[in-house]
Amino acid sequence: MKTNVIELVGLTKRYGSFTAVDHLNLTIGKGEVFGLLGPNGAGKSTTILMLLGLTEPTEGSVEVCGIRSTSHPIEVKRKVGYLPEDVGFYDDLTGLENLIYMARLNSIPAQTAKEKALRLLERVGLQNETNKKTGKYSRGMRQRLGLAEVLVKSPEIIILDEPTSGIDPAGVREFMDLIRRLSKEEGITVLFSSHHLHQVQQVCDRVGLFVKGSLIAEGNIHQLSQKLFSGDFLTIKAKTAVEQPSLQADFQKLKGVHAVRLQDGTYFIECTEDVTAVIAETAVKSGAGLKYLQKTEYGLDDIYNRYFS
Ligand code: ADP
Ligand code: MG
Repeated sequence: MKTNVIELVGLTKRYGSFTAVDHLNLTIGKGEVFGLLGPNGAGKSTTILMLLGLTEPTEGSVEVCGIRSTSHPIEVKRKVGYLPEDVGFYDDLTGLENLIYMARLNSIPAQTAKEKALRLLERVGLQNETNKKTGKYSRGMRQRLGLAEVLVKSPEIIILDEPTSGIDPAGVREFMDLIRRLSKEEGITVLFSSHHLHQVQQVCDRVGLFVKGSLIAEGNIHQLSQKLFSGDFLTIKAKTAVEQPSLQADFQKLKGVHAVRLQDGTYFIECTEDVTAVIAETAVKSGAGLKYLQKTEYGLDDIYNRYFS
């Protein structure tokens, strides 16, 4: 049986007359990696703060592992590790010292704290930077150390707010792989926010598309594109071997074809059903032949362009 560890119902946050989060409904199952995807200002951080019980919802409810964040924030904090957008360390202490300090704050005894800190530094790939002061850490290294800090208290859930901003592409990939591994190997549920569609797609089981305070769609990338583009025309691109002036009109007459545009020798055929086979047949019969035929399906970039640019 799948258990839900995060449950948001009608969650709303208003600042005066401005609605930052608007009746959000969302459930996340145990062990899932969920990406909250949306442009700046969409309300991602506000949602996360409500999840943690750090800011009060105007309406609606938040439950984490069956516990209400609004009334029991301390209990929720025990189960959730949170990596904020800008994580702070004691920059004149080393990575190891910072981590031991964090472990001690979580009531872990001194000896165990050091062992655990060393193990976690290795887990996040910082075994060679243990004795370097965090003031000298790169942004990517700081995020890894932040993740290690989050893991100190062995959380059931980790919540990361824009964890990859400011990291170079290679670093991003490694960080994302690490998160995915953590989730799959240790059964940790992960919720993270991002405005990078491609990064989210790499690691998430499920994505929620968040725009202006509302969740406009959720699912895996395939389901998302189906939902978001279901009312749209399918476009078939065709290039013929030779020019055939009557062909545009021939295409236009076919059943299921909505519009035909000819641009730089390529036909763009908008249709309401998949007419690829008839297009090919028509082109060949007309004597124009076919050099190339492609059906465009909506993918990541289309989702991105439509909602984020
Ligand atoms: P995101 O994390 O997706 O970039 P935020 O949750 O930070 O978005 O912000 C959502 C909206 O709410 C933004 O328009 C922001 O200006 C507004 N907002 C956030 N916090 C406050 C606040 N404390 N007071 C007033 N407006 C806020
Ligand atoms: Mg934010």
